[in-house]
Amino acid sequence: MSATMSELKPYQMYIDGTWADSESGKTFESINPATGTPWAIIPEATGNDVDRAVRAAHRAFTEGPWATMTATERGKMLRRLGDVLAEHSEKLGFTETIDTGKLLKETRWQASYIADFFHYYAGLADKVHGDTLPIDKPNMWTMTVREPLGVVAAVVPWNSQLFLVAVKIGPALAAGNTVVLKASEHASAPLLEFAKVFEEAGFPPGVFNVVTGFGDPSGKTLTSHPLVDRISFTGGPDTARHIMRNAAENFAQVSLELGGKSPLLIFDDADLDSASNGVLLSIFSASGQSCVAGSRLFLHERVHDQLLERIANRAAQIRIGDPLADDSQMGPLATPAQLSNIQDTVADATANGATLVHGGRQPDALGDGWYYEPTIVDCPNQDIGIVQRELFGPVVSVLKFNDEQEAIRLANDTRFGLAAGVFTRDVGKALRVTKALRSGIVWVNTYRMVSPLAPFGGYNESGFGRESGMDAIYDYTRPKTVWINTSPDPIADPFVMQ
Ligand code: NAD
Repeated sequence: MSATMSELKPYQMYIDGTWADSESGKTFESINPATGTPWAIIPEATGNDVDRAVRAAHRAFTEGPWATMTATERGKMLRRLGDVLAEHSEKLGFTETIDTGKLLKETRWQASYIADFFHYYAGLADKVHGDTLPIDKPNMWTMTVREPLGVVAAVVPWNSQLFLVAVKIGPALAAGNTVVLKASEHASAPLLEFAKVFEEAGFPPGVFNVVTGFGDPSGKTLTSHPLVDRISFTGGPDTARHIMRNAAENFAQVSLELGGKSPLLIFDDADLDSASNGVLLSIFSASGQSCVAGSRLFLHERVHDQLLERIANRAAQIRIGDPLADDSQMGPLATPAQLSNIQDTVADATANGATLVHGGRQPDALGDGWYYEPTIVDCPNQDIGIVQRELFGPVVSVLKFNDEQEAIRLANDTRFGLAAGVFTRDVGKALRVTKALRSGIVWVNTYRMVSPLAPFGGYNESGFGRESGMDAIYDYTRPKTVWINTSPDPIADPFVMQ
């Protein structure tokens, strides 16, 4: 059943403190992945719309109340933003669930937890400062001042929308920058709802803007715009290459949070109850649509068969269904393109010697939603596509190892390096393996932990730069060096020999 235009919820972009349609009047539909039907109508931004948003952000950075506000006042505004956000977490979570298919219990929790990120950066706003340098010259007072960069272009994908935005704009705004956010074409509505929270929190016009639309022209115009000083991108490596080329136009500083093919290593001395829960948490939470999904599972040969059976039995009990229902444990995939990519890759794996241990199909009786079963594939080696490529779905490739060195070698044999998990009771082994793993995050006897205090980011094709934590706020500033001559004497004529 398809909805008529009048049944679709209309959204507008948020530019310069006002709500706006695309100047072209063009729109596109947003689809509810649980039903496969359109539910909202989103403006399709043109290059001019994006230009208007960047100019508004630039004006807000150089003129007006934001430009002259003290860091302490900025901190207070961010604290208020966190408070207002917490009041609206139910509605924000609901919108994200309708737009992305992610479970309501998770989106609701995430929407309230991101208030903590804004509170954290609210506290840091007036704690970023420069230094006085013990300089190696007489009669010189030399210091650095930390300045914001200017206009930040934040570009995000469709999963964990509110979370991905909080880790970018929390530190960017706390440091005194202004922001133009490009929402994903697959899930724009949660961020347009989020802009209403900004409005309610009373931020001056232009400090935070949300544009919608597609990679080209919307994302491309934004990331190559001459008035953009910093690009903070989260998405896939192919798009990241475009972003780097776009940044060659404006020399904006760039940080990239990209995908992953994260290894989860389970040693034979691990607590196997905990480890099998860790597997479920790492790959089937959020239907595997997580950049840190533990999609390569390495089992010590002594526990391989036993654990595989346990995990398959648990996977068979996962309740797949309506993401709004409290008893659902796994929702649908967010786009039909993902579904067909996953189906093709699993078929390719079994044709190339892998064994399907569980799943591998769309569940019956769930209508036209883009659901896919939790899927476990036992793989003969790492050379097949399913082990190499990020799938962004509930599919885990299982491989066997026989000792610590082999586990490390196999885990590091990837182009990515975002996250990794290690399950063992041996502290020495945990520390040796953690040190050897080439990834930005290592979880030992746990998985998927995040916090406003803990830096987050990758190695290699998983990107560069870190979000969250103290470092992130410095990343949105640069030092200005000030030299002051304190000598009472005139400076010497440089062309007269002393
Ligand atoms: P994507 O790279 O296709 O799109 C991301 C954003 O980039 C979208 O808003 C899109 O419109 C925009 N875009 C596309 N072309 C552009 C261009 N030429 N110039 C500027 N912007 C452009 O990503 P996706 O498929 O929506 O999301 C999935 C990817 O995101 C996965 O690879 C996943 O691992 C990654 N991801 C990473 C993290 C992390 O923190 N490391 C978190 C979540 C998702």
